[in-house]
Amino acid sequence: MLGLMQDWPLLIHRVIDHAAIQHPRRAVVSRSVEGPIHRTDYATLRTRALQLAKRLGMEGIVEGDRVATLAWNTWRHVEAWYAISGIGAIYHTVNPRLFPEQIAWILNHAESRLALIDLTFVPLLEKLAPQLPHIQRFVVLTDTANMPETSLRGAVAYETWLAEADADYAWHSLDERTAAGLCYTSGTTGDPKGVLYSHRSNVLHAMTMNAADMFALTARDVVMPVVPMFHANSWILPFAAPMAGAELVLPGAKLDGASVHELLESEGVTFSAAVPTIWMMLLQHLRASGDRLSTMKTVAIGGSACPPALIDAYQREYGVRVLHAWGMTECSPVGTLCYTKPEVAHLEGQPLLDLQSTQGPPPFGVEITITDDAGTALPWDGEVFGRLKVKGPAITAAYYKVDPAGILDAEGFFDTGDVATIDANGYMQITDRSKDVIKSGGEWISSIAIENFAVGHPDVAEAAVVAVAHPKWDERPLLLVVPKPGTSPTKASVLTYLSDKIAKWWMPDDVLVVDSLPHTATGKLLKTKIREMVKDHQLG
Ligand code: ADP
Repeated sequence: MLGLMQDWPLLIHRVIDHAAIQHPRRAVVSRSVEGPIHRTDYATLRTRALQLAKRLGMEGIVEGDRVATLAWNTWRHVEAWYAISGIGAIYHTVNPRLFPEQIAWILNHAESRLALIDLTFVPLLEKLAPQLPHIQRFVVLTDTANMPETSLRGAVAYETWLAEADADYAWHSLDERTAAGLCYTSGTTGDPKGVLYSHRSNVLHAMTMNAADMFALTARDVVMPVVPMFHANSWILPFAAPMAGAELVLPGAKLDGASVHELLESEGVTFSAAVPTIWMMLLQHLRASGDRLSTMKTVAIGGSACPPALIDAYQREYGVRVLHAWGMTECSPVGTLCYTKPEVAHLEGQPLLDLQSTQGPPPFGVEITITDDAGTALPWDGEVFGRLKVKGPAITAAYYKVDPAGILDAEGFFDTGDVATIDANGYMQITDRSKDVIKSGGEWISSIAIENFAVGHPDVAEAAVVAVAHPKWDERPLLLVVPKPGTSPTKASVLTYLSDKIAKWWMPDDVLVVDSLPHTATGKLLKTKIREMVKDHQLG
């Protein structure tokens, strides 16, 4: 027997409708790519999204079409997400920091028909356009006054183009499982893979993340997603913030410490989210300038492991609570978040920091498990590490245009490619990516754990641990460190520093001091390249 409740499909446009009705004057503030601060509100943003939806229809965009965006976080990008999905088409975010060949590959794979691009990316796309046969038109996200001369096909200034439609338009009624967004993983191993979000998965994930032990956004919050909209759905914040009625502050193209700090303070931001690199840059700025954070209450940090020293600095020196989160594009993206269960509420000092270095338990809506290579579930004892697998309504079941066979296991779990422990309280800790873990004498050594300790050395700015082949042990860890400016750490001092922190058999066999380390487009250590750099290194 079916229940007798209303069928109210979980469609993205309902989020902006709700914000426009219940929180019409709540501000949406952006640092425009042109420079000045731009202010609008949810009611106006919804009207412009409807206008854009109509304009997309006039352009011939229909349900199922992909519309690419190469754009920073601004009000125009947010209204585009609502407009594109509101007509049943698919917003396809492209990470402009990828290599040009990868950008072309992704655009061609998605067969996006229209591209909405920021001024910043006009020169890049002018170079790539001959290789992009599917894109019929490039709309530059600016007004006529700022429109550059360009050879791009059908190029037009967004504001001029948008003005050709009015806002007299109704959202399409769609099945909630309709595709809404497409985001490719960065493809550090092989070709990028497209994750295809649905209306239902995005709405459910935004509701999940607004829960009290998660982001807990409220109508009194001022939320700044520093994490770009092209990086894993901007951690769902462009949906979660309007859903909660929170003010939205969008940092545009300027993500350096001083610019981020200026907006945090001028707009009274209470909640923000980004990868550790951004918070590291802000911390450096704060320490150098003596500036404070007067309104920030909470930051979500994830995307790569957050060093305990960073968590400690924000909490102790600046009074900002850190939420360490783990996620991936395939999880919409948040899979776990380190909140406080009563079992650990008594912790303080180092034990609390140790807990916060874990990525925490999952929310309702994400199931997690760890297994060995044969798929047998491993114990939750905080010691044994295994393959981390996840299941839930906002987790990918297949990649776009890739044969779905084999992506989920027999129980419907998705193998994340991460290696993790889970403790008795359900706190998950990433110990590695499965391809980065060091397999020494049949046992696994966590590269991330060694890196986290190494960056605690006073002279070490950044650290990377990779496996090098070893005749007896198969693989052994090699540590590369980048010195802090003006310092010169030595192998001996780094090894002495580590000696009382990690097991003897985890000790790196060698330490190399390097000027810099290679990173991916999303700011993570590019381990494939690092392994390549040191493949001939002879362990001494
Ligand atoms: P990519 O950077 O590969 O394009 P994602 O941004 O989706 O893709 O990255 C997901 C991966 O980032 C995870 O599988 C995990 O390895 C890593 N990651 C994310 N958050 C954390 C975290 N808090 N700690 C450690 N690793 C993390």
